[in-house]
Amino acid sequence: MTEIDFTPLKGIKFNCLDGCGFCCSFPAEVREWEKYFPMILEKNGTAFRKWENGHSCLNGIFTMRQQDEKGACIFLCDDKKCGIYDIRSLLCRIFPVKFFFGWRLQLYPSMSCRGFSKDEKSDMMRLGKETIEELSPGFIENMLKESKAMYADLSVRLENYIAPDVLQSMLLEYAGEMEFSLSNISSASRAGFEAELSSDCFIDLPSYLTKDLQWQVFKLENGLVRRILLKQTGETEHVDSMLYSCLTVRTLSSDAVEAVKRYMRLITSTDHFIGMVYRKAVEQKTPDVQLLLLAIAELENVKELFLLKADLLSKFEKQEYIDEKIIEDTIVLFDGYLATVPALGMIL
Ligand code: SF4
Ligand code: SF4
Repeated sequence: MTEIDFTPLKGIKFNCLDGCGFCCSFPAEVREWEKYFPMILEKNGTAFRKWENGHSCLNGIFTMRQQDEKGACIFLCDDKKCGIYDIRSLLCRIFPVKFFFGWRLQLYPSMSCRGFSKDEKSDMMRLGKETIEELSPGFIENMLKESKAMYADLSVRLENYIAPDVLQSMLLEYAGEMEFSLSNISSASRAGFEAELSSDCFIDLPSYLTKDLQWQVFKLENGLVRRILLKQTGETEHVDSMLYSCLTVRTLSSDAVEAVKRYMRLITSTDHFIGMVYRKAVEQKTPDVQLLLLAIAELENVKELFLLKADLLSKFEKQEYIDEKIIEDTIVLFDGYLATVPALGMIL
């Protein structure tokens, strides 16, 4: 098995869009040992907030302070450019590439960004390789050592253990054969969708970058789903709303079905997704847990949450059915959520 897997970046072109700044609306993580950590603190003594997460292996992690707690990072300038570009954190430097340290280090794209295009010149594979070269070998070595230690005893802890690469290829096969219909969404997926939309914590609500680069957030309140415009300052503005009960069964065009299948295959090929499955299996502590069945259930759940979000967007766009364009937009809406789901392994 290769130590560093770049394959999810293959063939992807990317150029950051002027006037966007969407990725700076999330509280970016910064590690205390990062080269520029002290320099950022020198610029602003209150730049960081300690991330309290209860995991000993994640000690020493801070997040960039946001404007009014939910707006953009305090260093984002009015023209949506970074005010500390040369000394920005590692995570800010690598986005939209994500690093996942599991049984190996894998680099993959965060599709919540809109800077991907087939015509642009920047090759993400090259960017990924350059980023790796910039990092100190000690950093990668230490992170890999820690993440591999997490995976080391899985074969003993899980009765029906399947090695990660084997599990991934079995799931990829399954993803290619999945059925797509909104008529039989499980009540568990609906409950998960409602819980996410109703979160009391603003930054946990589903957020979305529109085609014209506005930052939007969706929130369910009193039976209404509200579309909210989020400004850099943290101020919000109501855009429009619809009755939650209007989210009903909708049809997917055949192009849309193919596009969802491609996305499900992309998700399955990320080690982060496999890490989510192992975390669940370990947490359930059920001796007879069938790892493959659990992985399939997890993928089905992800698919259903995705379809519910596609339904939400198509309804706001006043479309009668879900087409390929809606699926492309739903990927932008969905992918941020996926990056926040805890997994066995470490995400950067
Ligand atoms: S979300 Fe993507 S396009 Fe927008 S500022 Fe971030 S990297 Fe650039
Ligand atoms: S440090 Fe710069 S790049 Fe990073 S979140 Fe803040 S404004 Fe964005």
